[in-house]
Amino acid sequence: MKTDNMEQLRHSLAHLLAAAVLELWPDTKRAIGPAIDNGFYYDFEFPQPISEEDLPKIEEKMREILKSWDKFEQTEVSTEEAKKIFSGNPYKLELIKEYAASGLTTVKSGDFVDLCRGGHIDSAKDIKPDAFKLTHMAGAYWRGSEKNKMLTRIYGAAFENKKALEEYLKIQEEAKKRDHKKLGVDLDLFTFSDLVGAGLPLWTPKGTIVRNLLDDFIWDLRQKRGYQKVEIPHITKKDLYEKSGHWDKFANELMKIETREKHLFAMKPMNCPHHTQIFARKPHSYRDMPQRYSNTTMVYRDEQTGELSGLSRVRAITQDDAHVFARHNQIKEEILKIWDIVDEFYGAFGFPLEVRLSLHDPQQKEKYLGSPKLWNDAEDTLREIAKGKKVTALEALGEAAFYGPKVDFVARDSLGRQWQVATIQLDMNMPERFDLYCINENGEQERVVMLHAATMGSTERFLSIIIEHFAGAFPVWLAPVQVIIAPISDKFSDYAKKIKQELVDAGLRVELDERQESVGKKIREAELQKIPYTLVVGEKEQTANTVAVRKRGTGDLGAIPVEKFIQNIQEESQQKKSSQ
Ligand SMILES: [Zn+2]
Ligand SMILES: [Zn+2]
Repeated sequence: MKTDNMEQLRHSLAHLLAAAVLELWPDTKRAIGPAIDNGFYYDFEFPQPISEEDLPKIEEKMREILKSWDKFEQTEVSTEEAKKIFSGNPYKLELIKEYAASGLTTVKSGDFVDLCRGGHIDSAKDIKPDAFKLTHMAGAYWRGSEKNKMLTRIYGAAFENKKALEEYLKIQEEAKKRDHKKLGVDLDLFTFSDLVGAGLPLWTPKGTIVRNLLDDFIWDLRQKRGYQKVEIPHITKKDLYEKSGHWDKFANELMKIETREKHLFAMKPMNCPHHTQIFARKPHSYRDMPQRYSNTTMVYRDEQTGELSGLSRVRAITQDDAHVFARHNQIKEEILKIWDIVDEFYGAFGFPLEVRLSLHDPQQKEKYLGSPKLWNDAEDTLREIAKGKKVTALEALGEAAFYGPKVDFVARDSLGRQWQVATIQLDMNMPERFDLYCINENGEQERVVMLHAATMGSTERFLSIIIEHFAGAFPVWLAPVQVIIAPISDKFSDYAKKIKQELVDAGLRVELDERQESVGKKIREAELQKIPYTLVVGEKEQTANTVAVRKRGTGDLGAIPVEKFIQNIQEESQQKKSSQ
């Protein structure tokens, strides 16, 4: 089945879900029911609360109704008729009011009528009764705003056949166990506070270690390639964004601040405009080109409360941002450098990357800034690099932004899920808007181009991905606690402290478990905390100046001298090898 057919199938199932719910609870008010990735949902206001235990009953009803369904008949209706059909349902009435001007249609399948603009499969007979399943429920504010009523959202999964559904459900079950929202709290990496607000994660000491290690890694990769760190304030006058065009583009998402002098400021939703002003501070000779700025910093977006989710969707986002200001003849080399950084970075996590080139549509030249030659050259460069890298890049015609083509990297995690991660974006617009140039060999002003090159994109989102990818068991180089020492009794406390100091002096991240608990319990808890190494020390180890090493996931490695252990773990850490 083709992708758009799957979308139609999933949306058709949302109708079926609503029909079943209304038969079971006739006083329910239904809101909306779109198709989503892997399935569909429908939002309801139930007369009395229902629970996930009701889902099998609803599912059964759906299969029963499905037998009597065939075509989805779409009919144009007047506003009056629509109001009559959906009287008493404030959600549909609100939608009717909104869409009245563009025309209203209802869709009828079996005896069930819904307000809908279409997008169904030809016949409900194409829905396989064993290829869908209601998966879970969640609260969802009407239209995503916390000012509105909280509705009950019922989610379903749907695929072209039973096998695909089962595969998906299996992965979902594993993903649930790895959910970063739960694991992140269990491993004490981050927290949320009602006083601070939704979508604003707070980073604990352990979480901060992981963030800094990721950032150090990226800086290490960039520094070797001539990047320099810059720093910028988190707010700006309106003027900067009027000039960059972001005042209009980000409109509702922009967090605005009014000063006591009534000046309007905004929290930055991105860093590029600020960085242009660092570049523009002085004229640059062609000899100083390119200029490469690296800046890990937070940006702020006014996301709606209902859209927020763990670390995946937040209001304060850390970007490991980088911008390169380059001459046209330097584009290839600079993109290659960024691509190498992306390869090295994601390689360390064992993420295979897929590459997509977002290109312009040559049939619609007027849509793009810059000459066709510029575009063709830039796109040929991207193709050449992909070829040199021996990757098959998918080409997406017409997907480029008006200001330049782009390379998207998609990572596949240990559960086979795909995540859009890094991008390299060529930008001919911002240098135009801010009049950015260098002085070339002939003493003339030459327009430069800008490359946007965040590697993780959002640190928060990347962390949510790797927490689930590793199921919390970070490789040694990234583990917030690399080693825990478990003395078998108080008697060996001094020896344990001595070892701890030696490990700390060697630059390792170590904890000492001095509780009056059995070693067995200490080992179990260390495993739950996903600490890579547990060192058990007692009489034998103290006498021989050794440690008994237990490796996460492997078990007992036996006793080895302390120096040898330090040497081994440092080597493992330097290799940045992923254990998965
Ligand atoms: Zn529909
Ligand atoms: Zn940028």
